[in-house]
Amino acid sequence: NNIVVAIDGYSSCGKSTLAKALAKKLHFIYVDSGAMYRAVTLYFLRNQTDLSNHDLIIDALEHIDLNFHSRDYQSHILLNGEEVSDEIRQMPVSESVSLIASIKEVRKAMVRKQQKMGKSKNIVMDGRDIGTTVFPHAQVKFFMTADPKIRAERRYQELLAKGERISLEEIFDNLAHRDFLDTTREESPLTRAADAIILDNTNLTEQEQLDFAIEKIRP
Ligand code: C5P
Repeated sequence: NNIVVAIDGYSSCGKSTLAKALAKKLHFIYVDSGAMYRAVTLYFLRNQTDLSNHDLIIDALEHIDLNFHSRDYQSHILLNGEEVSDEIRQMPVSESVSLIASIKEVRKAMVRKQQKMGKSKNIVMDGRDIGTTVFPHAQVKFFMTADPKIRAERRYQELLAKGERISLEEIFDNLAHRDFLDTTREESPLTRAADAIILDNTNLTEQEQLDFAIEKIRP
């Protein structure tokens, strides 16, 4: 049977960094589920869709084709054939994504795609509902947390390195806002699965997190 490692947690907790490192080490496929919600959001922003019009959004879902290109365990996402991996990290998408992700039908479509990807392959998938909804029977589940100030600082450095002009305060507020929407939405809200291993990485290096996770996967 194939193995699924589920990594959930708050925004900017280092989920994707750990997931990529694990995938590389274990020769698993990395799937960034957040990138899917982000790409869908980008589609609607580009089309200037009224984001409060759920019927319009639900009808448009069939026109959105998402695909992953896996290169060096960095996943690259294609939105209707176009690579959008950088654009989906920018602020306009970050500001609207949690709203789009709270729509039940959007989640259904994404979850269906995600479950297909983990059907026959060994994967590491990170997100908000992977261990609870997408793969409730995943062999290993992690729930990541970190100090909110540290999380904002890390994301700030990341965006700064990419040349984004943004303040630390704006990032802090965006993370808090998304965490609020993600934990309070009606459809599969962000919550720790009962059998998920908590990993607070506030004071851990990337190597320490990887060692911790590997030990849990291969006791
Ligand atoms: O992981 P990332 O921060 O890129 O995800 C962006 C947003 O997508 C989250 O804030 C959340 O609203 C949504 N998301 C989700 N379920 C997932 C992954 C992401 O609702 N499995």
